[in-house]
Formats: sequence, C-alpha cells, structure tokens
Amino acid sequence: MKFGYASWLPETNMMRKFTEELANGRLMGTKCKKCKTKYMPPRIQCRCGSTDMEWYEAPKKGKLLAYTIIMYPPESMQKYAPYIVAVAELEDGTRLLSHIVGVTPKTLKVGMPIEVSISKVSEDRITYKFKPST
Ligand SMILES: [Zn+2]
Repeated sequence: MKFGYASWLPETNMMRKFTEELANGRLMGTKCKKCKTKYMPPRIQCRCGSTDMEWYEAPKKGKLLAYTIIMYPPESMQKYAPYIVAVAELEDGTRLLSHIVGVTPKTLKVGMPIEVSISKVSEDRITYKFKPST
C-alpha cells in the first residue's frame, strides 16, 4: 500500500509504517520523547534536534481552521479539480492539511467540526480526507 494520490513523498520506513497503520484505520503521528512535541504527519526528527521519537495514535476529530479552493492543480490532480484543501486542528492541538469532501463552498465554515476519513484512492493507494462531523 502506498500513501496519497501520487508518490510525492519518499518511501521511507516511517511512511511505510504510517501507511500500514492508516490501512488498519489508525492515524498515527510521532511524538518527541524529550520535549513531547507531536508531529502529524509524523516526522523522524524533532525541532529540538532529538531523534528519539515514539508513535502515538492521533484523534480523528477536530475543527476546520482554514481552507482554499484549488481551481488549477498540478497535472496529476486535474481530474479532481476544483477541490477544496483545508487545514484542521485535531483534538490534540496538532494541525493537518488535507482535502475536505462532503461540503460545498457554501456549507464550509471556519470552526466547523470535521473528522478524518481514511479512504482508498485506488487498489494500492490510500489517503485521508476531512469530512464534516456531526
Ligand atoms: Zn523534541
């Protein structure tokens, strides 16, 4: 299983683990054991310089912080255009960027509750999207 619509991220062990967990329904981030900073999506090195990181399961609920409508995407994404990209703050305070589906520009509202929905792009690709939460 690979992550995302296209391979724009290197196939590292970390990405493999992240993707594997996603396929099992878990959204996993990393946390620095030294200063406790959380990273979602995961990172192997903390901004404090430490590489002593551990995995944690992130909450799938949060709220919409900002969004933009993409009219002219890169070629690989043209079949999805126009689409909406949003930044959400998850319940643990981490921020994540993704597509948001199940909304229209009229129903979108900054601050609205969202949840992370894991979905397959194709047979061998998986990603996550935001959708409105009730
Ligand atoms: Zn740290």
